[in-house]
Amino acid sequence: MNNRIAVIDDSLTIRNIAKKYINAGGFEAFCIEDIKNYLSVLKKIKPALILLDIYLGEEDIDGHSICKTIRNDETLSDIPVIMMSSLNEKIDIKKAFDSGSNIFIHKPFSQKEIIKEIRNLLIKDKRDEKILLVDDSSVLRKIVKFELERGGFSIIEAGSGKEGIEVLKKEKIDLIILDIEMEGMDGFEFAKLTKGDISFYTIPIIMLSSLDDPLIIKKAFKSGIVEYFIKPFKHGALLKFVKEVIIPANIKKEQQKKIIIIDDSQAQRSVLNHILKRDGKEVLSFENPKKALDYIEDNEDISLIITDIYMPEMDGLEFSKKAKKIREDIPIIGISATRSKESVLNALSSGMDDFLYIPFYEEELNLRVNLQIKLYQKIKELNGLNKILKEQSFKDPLTSLYNRRAVFDLLEAEFERTIRNDSELSIVMFDIDYFKQVNDTYGHPKGDEVLKYIAATLKGNIRSYDIAARIGGEEFLLLLPHTDKKTAWTIAERVRKVIKNGDISGIKITISGGISTIKELKETEKISDFIKKADERLYKAKKSGRDKIVFS
Ligand code: GH3
Ligand code: MG
Ligand code: MG
Repeated sequence: MNNRIAVIDDSLTIRNIAKKYINAGGFEAFCIEDIKNYLSVLKKIKPALILLDIYLGEEDIDGHSICKTIRNDETLSDIPVIMMSSLNEKIDIKKAFDSGSNIFIHKPFSQKEIIKEIRNLLIKDKRDEKILLVDDSSVLRKIVKFELERGGFSIIEAGSGKEGIEVLKKEKIDLIILDIEMEGMDGFEFAKLTKGDISFYTIPIIMLSSLDDPLIIKKAFKSGIVEYFIKPFKHGALLKFVKEVIIPANIKKEQQKKIIIIDDSQAQRSVLNHILKRDGKEVLSFENPKKALDYIEDNEDISLIITDIYMPEMDGLEFSKKAKKIREDIPIIGISATRSKESVLNALSSGMDDFLYIPFYEEELNLRVNLQIKLYQKIKELNGLNKILKEQSFKDPLTSLYNRRAVFDLLEAEFERTIRNDSELSIVMFDIDYFKQVNDTYGHPKGDEVLKYIAATLKGNIRSYDIAARIGGEEFLLLLPHTDKKTAWTIAERVRKVIKNGDISGIKITISGGISTIKELKETEKISDFIKKADERLYKAKKSGRDKIVFS
C-alpha cells in the first residue's frame, strides 16, 4: 500500500509535529514547504493522502484553492485531503468541504486524532453489500466497478442479461446496476423479469444508459427502477447515490450496534446478556465501569448502555455522569434491586434516560431498550435536520451571502482572534449609489438582479477565507482576515472598478465603500468602534461625491 502522506503547511513547527505523528503512525510524511510549487511536488510524490493547512501565508494560494485544484486535476483528484486549521468556526468547516476536502481537523491535534482520521480515509470501509453490474461493455463495467469499489462494495459483473439472472440465482445481491442496450435480453426485459420474481423483486435497480430520451426514461421508471443515470455520469455521483439506496443495510448496522452492560454481578450480566441476545442484539458486558468507560471513549458502535446502580468501585450514578460526558447522546438505562424513591430519583437526575427495578419482565426490558434506541435514532436524525436549518439561517436567501447576524458573529470571533494573535484584520462596508433610482426606473426585480450581480462580484474578488455578507438592503460587508489597510484598499478598489465598468443588462452602477482596519484602533477602542469607523468612512464617501473608497 502507498503510505505516503503529503503535508502542506507554511509553519515549520506544524510540519515537524505532523511529520512526527504521521511517521509514528506507520505512514511516511513528505512535507511541502515550497507552497508555490505544490502541484509539481504532489505529482512527483503521488501521495496516498494530503494534509493541508488553510492559511498558507501566500497572497493568492490557500488551502481552499489548493484543494479545488487537486479535485480538478486528473492525476490527483482521487487523493483524500484532510484540511487543518486553527480556525474553529462552523463556516470554516463548511468552506473546507465546499472546496472538496474530505475531513476538517482543528489545530492543535493529537497524534491519536490525526492517525485515526488518516486510517479512516485510507483503509476503505469494508461493506457486506454485493452489487450486480449487468452491462455488455467491459470498459463501462470497469469504470463503474472502480467507482463503487471505492465505497467498499463487492461488485459482481455480468456481460449479459442472461448471465445476470444466473448470478441472481446463486448470490445474495443488494443492488443491481443495469445497462439498457444489450445484445439478447435488454435492460427493460431484465428489469421486468426480476421485478416479476418473488425472490428478486425487492432488489433496487439503477439503470445506466447513454439514452437521454424522456420517453425512454419514463419507461425505465415504469419498469420499477429507483434511478436513471445518463452516461457519462459525474465522478462520485453514482457512488453517492448507491450509498443512499443501500440504506437498509446501514440501518441494520445501526441496529447491530452494541448494547453495553455494566454490572458487578456475574449472574445479572448473564441474565441481561441472554435476554438481549434473544431479541437479536449485540451485547458486550463489563464487570468494571472504568473498563466500560475506556471502551466508550474508543468506540463508536454503541447504541445503548445498561448499568447497575450499586457497584463497589464506581457506582452507576458516577459512571453515568462520566459516560454522558464522553458521549452525551447515548441512552443509559439504570437497573437496581433496591426499591426506594431515592434510587430512582438519583438515577434519573444523574443523567440516565430510564430506570428499571430487578426483577423485571423480559418483555418490559426489551420494550424499554427498543424505545430508547428508537429515540436515540430520532434525535440523531433531528440533529442532522437542525444542522441544515442552521445553515439556512445564516445565509441571505437572495444573494446566498452571509446575512447580517452571521457576519457580525463571525466578525466578533475574528476580531478577538486577531487581537489575541496580534495580526491584521480589515473590513470594508459598501453601499450602492443611488440604488433607489434603479428600483424606481427599472423596477424592483431588476434591482434584485443588481444585488445578485454585486454579490457575485464581491465573492469573485476575494480570497477563499475572506467573507462577503449582505448586511442591509443594498449594503454589503467584506471581512478580510490577515489583511492590512493597504491590501483592503486594493481589494475594495478592485471591486469598485469591476462594478463601475460592469454592465448589468444595460444598467450602470457604482458603489461607495468605507474601510476600517484593526491596527489603527486605540487600546481602549472596541469592536463597535471598529465597525463605526467603516460606517463613518462610507458616509464620507457618499458625502464627497460617491463612487469611491474612503479609508481615513
Ligand atoms: P445613496 O447613494 O445615498 O446610498 O442612495 P440610495 O438610493 O442607494 O439610498 P437609499 O438608502 O435612499 O435607498 C436604498 C434603496 O434600496 C431603497 C430600497 O428600495 C432599495 N432596496 C433595499 N433592499 C432591497 C431589495 O432587497 N431589493 C431591491 N430591489 N431594492 C432594495
Ligand atoms: Mg445606497
Ligand atoms: Mg443605504
